[in-house]
Amino acid sequence: MRNTDAQVLFTPGPLNTSATVKKAMLDDIGSRTKASAELISRVCSKLLKAYDVGEAFAAIPVQGSGTFAVEAMLTSCLPAADYCVAVLVNGEYSKRMLEICEIHGLNHVALQCNTEEAIDPERVDVFVQQNPQITHLALVHFETGLGVLNDLAQLLKVCEQRSVSLLLDAISTFGALPIPFDSPAITAVALSANKCLHSVPGIAFVIARTTALHATVRRSLSLDLHAQWRKLENAHQWRFTPPTHVLLALDQALNEWAQEGKAERRLEKYRRLNQRLVRQLAEQGIVPLLDARFRAPMITTFLLPDNFALTFDQLYRHLECDRLIIYPATYSMASSLRIGCIGELDSGDIDRLASALRHAATISTASEPATHA
Ligand SMILES: *Cc1c(COP(=O)(O)O)cnc(C)c1O
Repeated sequence: MRNTDAQVLFTPGPLNTSATVKKAMLDDIGSRTKASAELISRVCSKLLKAYDVGEAFAAIPVQGSGTFAVEAMLTSCLPAADYCVAVLVNGEYSKRMLEICEIHGLNHVALQCNTEEAIDPERVDVFVQQNPQITHLALVHFETGLGVLNDLAQLLKVCEQRSVSLLLDAISTFGALPIPFDSPAITAVALSANKCLHSVPGIAFVIARTTALHATVRRSLSLDLHAQWRKLENAHQWRFTPPTHVLLALDQALNEWAQEGKAERRLEKYRRLNQRLVRQLAEQGIVPLLDARFRAPMITTFLLPDNFALTFDQLYRHLECDRLIIYPATYSMASSLRIGCIGELDSGDIDRLASALRHAATISTASEPATHA
């Protein structure tokens, strides 16, 4: 149930949340109370249980959006010396990982790959053999920028065969796609509350192998996962003000995730919505940019036909007036747009978006609505 004047978000976070998730935030809880300690430990164990993650790992919370967890993972889970992380770059979010490595002066190399297809595991294998200094790979599971799904299982095989560790950005897949935590190569996985777990933004996590958290590695104060983990383990408290309301929302979102059938069902629902979307937009000549074998249903980049009446910005404003919110593609291709199928969306929302697009395409640019201040 949603307010009739509420925006419908077809964006990869924030996304539409259920009324019960929003309602869960109504309580104020003191940060040093028993209730707060229980809440944090409950949420962390639910996250570990969600993927049957073994005892070798800990779920460590970080305030902020997904990028905070990715930065915490890269700065906290690499040893102090004698390491080299190879960043596999095939999109916006892996570029962001590279930037984090540069800013913090981490020893790294980059393998630049085609942004419109999945990373080729054989190429990675050759690259690792040619660069024997590599100890870690940094990978984005689903490159949300264009919507490219990388082959995690095959890349993990390469890691296992070449004895390198994997640092994984699973921010747009955790809660919907399988992540084989039983692979010895998985060292750390970054995830966020406001993607496939359907909670509000404001908290992210790193599920890390505890042996990868070194007390001697201190590259950041607020993003130090070892320090956060020790404080939570020993005193059941965060080092800094915990986002208690956001934690309450996530606790509820995780209940709903489990009740609704966990990752398998969630992915099924995304598939159903995405197929409906692709079919309806194809009728209007709006087709996915990428080959179907590289896509996943969480988000899809579409190309507008050459004769489309509006630019992306004009289209965006038309849809915004209808309270339908989409995203541009990250590569600022004028004639493309991204549509997400995650969050509390149903087939009626997809139909509404498809018909608004159809309507927008028929009106002349002269009737373009004024930009909101
Ligand atoms: C959303 C997302 C992030 C985090 O982006 P924020 O802007 O910090 O929320 C990181 N990686 C991927 C793959 C994502 O989809």
